[in-house]
Amino acid sequence: MSAAFDVVIIGGGIHGVGVAQAAAVRGYRTLLLEQEVLAAGTSGRSTKLIHGGLRYLESGQLRLVRESLRERETLLGIAPDLVERKAFHLPVYAGARRTARRIRAGLQFYRLLSSGPGGRFAALPRRAWGDLDGLQTAGLRAVFRYYDAQTDDVALTHAVARSARDFGADLQVGARFIGAERNAHGYEVRYVQGGIVGSCMAQVLVNATGPWAGPTLARILPGPPRIDHDLVAGTHIITEGTLRSGGYYAESPSDQRPVFILPWRGRVLTGTTERRYVGDPGQIAPTAGEIAYLQEVLAACFPQFSTTVVDAFAGLRVLPRGASDLSARRRDTVLLADAPVPRLISIFGGKLTTYRLTAERVMDRFRASLPERVAQANTSRLILPGP
Ligand SMILES: Cc1cc2nc3c(=O)[nH]c(=O)nc-3n(C[C@H](O)[C@H](O)[C@H](O)COP(=O)(O)OP(=O)(O)OC[C@H]3O[C@@H](n4cnc5c(N)ncnc54)[C@H](O)[C@@H]3O)c2cc1C
Repeated sequence: MSAAFDVVIIGGGIHGVGVAQAAAVRGYRTLLLEQEVLAAGTSGRSTKLIHGGLRYLESGQLRLVRESLRERETLLGIAPDLVERKAFHLPVYAGARRTARRIRAGLQFYRLLSSGPGGRFAALPRRAWGDLDGLQTAGLRAVFRYYDAQTDDVALTHAVARSARDFGADLQVGARFIGAERNAHGYEVRYVQGGIVGSCMAQVLVNATGPWAGPTLARILPGPPRIDHDLVAGTHIITEGTLRSGGYYAESPSDQRPVFILPWRGRVLTGTTERRYVGDPGQIAPTAGEIAYLQEVLAACFPQFSTTVVDAFAGLRVLPRGASDLSARRRDTVLLADAPVPRLISIFGGKLTTYRLTAERVMDRFRASLPERVAQANTSRLILPGP
């Protein structure tokens, strides 16, 4: 007879391990299946920010920004070894699409939506510009400093996974989900691990496969609901250089998209780009054009830095279909359930920053589908084990 679990999760990115933690903390027998290693997908290829998402104010996504800012403060509290508050700088050059006045208004709004000390910002006096890591000052009109947070996305995913295991969750890597069939009690789940087909029973099933969410749903019977979505690739480059004053958020000189230039493990991380992607999520890779675009942004802001690429990586966002302009698309996390009293929930989109909230929401939606258990902790106060 196959093993029986209350909750089976497919996918070991930040959402999968987040749900594993939330489920285990609530006292449920929990299994997670990850086909490769934890954080093998998007969760190891992000910009590594724990942030409200200043630019989402431009598309009016106030609820998302407010929730993300609240989660930023929560994560600073529960993961002090992994999430670090950092100064960010917004340089405004002559001819920029976003004027100093507009940026000031945006930062005032960001402060209003922030809880805690993270909302403060200031326009730096001209005499301080020379201390900004060699930031190009020709044509510079203003520099604003504000605060957000940075993490190591892979380490964060592992820390949440360790916490899930501490509460009894069984996390299996190298275990590829191959199919599931609904029955009277939930789902019969099949997977391959080490060349052997295994199976188990799940009262409820979570599809946390990020860019693979569509193909995963295609393996579930009877066919669950789906939503139209796009995969949007984002590339980062890593180059030599030292940023002592914090991060930078600058407009690209070619198309005025905002791009981050961040300190990362003694080097410089520049990203990201946006392009629609069709194909196997496992094959996503940076293109030469994306790399050149990011080199151009870096050279425009820090002309003295080397633009020789030490490393480059690309990840895939899942964006529910909507307005054609990718950068204006809503970034909310969509939870798609198979029924009003759900047995299956798929997570589409979302942010590293809001993983905990998303995981709690998934488990809340399953309340009527699962037996009552006594929760052993509250994830908003549970300190994550350090690296
Ligand atoms: C370029 C880029 C930059 C970003 N930057 C930020 C940022 O700075 N801050 C922020 O808050 N958010 C950011 N995000 C968003 C954030 O990274 C993602 O929302 C998040 O990582 C998604 O996690 P996930 O668990 O849903 O998916 P993933 O991390 O992709 O995990 C899915 C997992 O499912 C596994 N899987 C797939 N199929 C199967 C199967 N059949 N069986 C078993 N396992 C399977 C995969 O191997 C993978 O490990 C960024 C996204 C992108 C693309």
